[in-house]
Amino acid sequence: SLTIGIVGLPNVGKSTLFNALTKNDVLAANYPFATIEPNVGVVGVPDPRLNVLAGIFGSQKILPATVDFVDIAGIVRGASEGEGLGNKFLANIRESDAICQVIRAFKDENVVHVDGKVSPKDDIETINTELILADLQSVEKAVPRLTKESRLQKEKVAVLAAVEKAQKILESGETLFSAGITKGTEQGDLLHELHLLTTKPFLYVFNVDEDELVDEDFKNEQRALVAPAEAIFLNAKIESELIELDDDEALELLQSMGQEEPGLATLGRVGFDTLGLQTYLTAGPKETRAWTIPKGATAPEAAGVIHTDFQKGFIKAEIISFADLVETGSVAEARAKGKARMEGKEYVMQDGDVVEFRFNV
Ligand code: GDP
Repeated sequence: SLTIGIVGLPNVGKSTLFNALTKNDVLAANYPFATIEPNVGVVGVPDPRLNVLAGIFGSQKILPATVDFVDIAGIVRGASEGEGLGNKFLANIRESDAICQVIRAFKDENVVHVDGKVSPKDDIETINTELILADLQSVEKAVPRLTKESRLQKEKVAVLAAVEKAQKILESGETLFSAGITKGTEQGDLLHELHLLTTKPFLYVFNVDEDELVDEDFKNEQRALVAPAEAIFLNAKIESELIELDDDEALELLQSMGQEEPGLATLGRVGFDTLGLQTYLTAGPKETRAWTIPKGATAPEAAGVIHTDFQKGFIKAEIISFADLVETGSVAEARAKGKARMEGKEYVMQDGDVVEFRFNV
C-alpha cells in the first residue's frame, strides 16, 4: 500500500506525533492479526458516512480506510551530502509515496531548536533545500547519460528535455511539486526513471501552540508558505493526550480548544487525499467498510481490491449512491425507485458509491 514519509528537523515533535499515530487503535480494532513495522503508524480516514451506513444495514463492525505513515529519521542540514543519516534518509524517502513535513511553530524555551530560533519559513527552506540538492545530484548524473542515449533512442529526447527543465526549476530553489511537476502529469511521468524526491506530493504538519490552533491569520500565513501543498495545524502533545482519552472526554477537550476533530483525523483525511486515493463503500450486516482505490479506478479495478478473483470474474457492479441510499432508506427501496444502477467494465468509480459486485467464480 502507499505510504507517507514523515520528515522534519530534530526537536520539532515528530516522535511525539508519531507515538500518537502508533497508539491510535484503528488497526488493533479492525485488523487484530495485522503485523506492522515499528516505524509505521496507521491512521483511520474519518468518514461519517460509515456510521450512517452501519445504521441502515445493522452492521456489527465498521472498517474505515487507513493511511500508513512512516517515520523517517535523519534530516539535518547536509543530509543530501550524506551527513548524519543522510543516505539512509534519502533511501527511505525515495520509497515513500508522499512527503509529510513536520514543522515546529510552538514556542518553548525548554525545547532547543537546532538553528536557535523558531521559524517555520526557515525550517521549510532547510528541508526543501536538502531535497532539492538531492534531486539536483540525480538530475546532473542523468543529463550526460540521457544526452548519449537520446542520439540513438528517440523516446529519450523527451525525457532529456524534461530533465533539463527540471534542472532549471531545482536550480532556482523550487521543488518540482510546487512547480506542478508530479506523478501523473506528462512532465512528471517523463522523469519517473530518475526516482526524484520533490516530484512526490507534499503535505505539512505545523506543530503549533494551542492559541495558534484558532489563529486564522497565523494559519493563513503558513498556508501561503506551503501552497499548493496542504497545511494541517495540530499540537503534537495534545494529540498524544487525546489518544489516551475516551470519546466523550476527547470531544470535550477538542471543543474547549475550538476544534471539530483530532489533528490525527485531519492528518488521515488530508494524507489520503494527498496520495490521490479515494474510497468506495460496501455494507451488510457483518460490516460496513471503506475500500481504498486510486482516483479514476474502474469498477473491475475496484473489485480487485476486495479479491483478485472479483476482478478476473467481474460481470457488473450494482451501485447506489450514498445520498440515494440514505434517502430511500434501504437497498430494496432504492432498487424499487430505480436508484440502483448496473455498471459495467468501463465504469469509473465515484466518491460515495455503495457497491455490490456481481462476478463469476
Ligand atoms: P523530534 O526530535 O522531532 O522527534 O521531537 P520530539 O517529539 O522528541 O519532541 C521534542 C521535545 O519537544 C520533547 O520534549 C517534546 O515533549 C516537546 N514537544 C513536542 N511537541 C510539542 C508541542 O506541541 N508543544 C510543546 N511545548 N512541546 C512539544
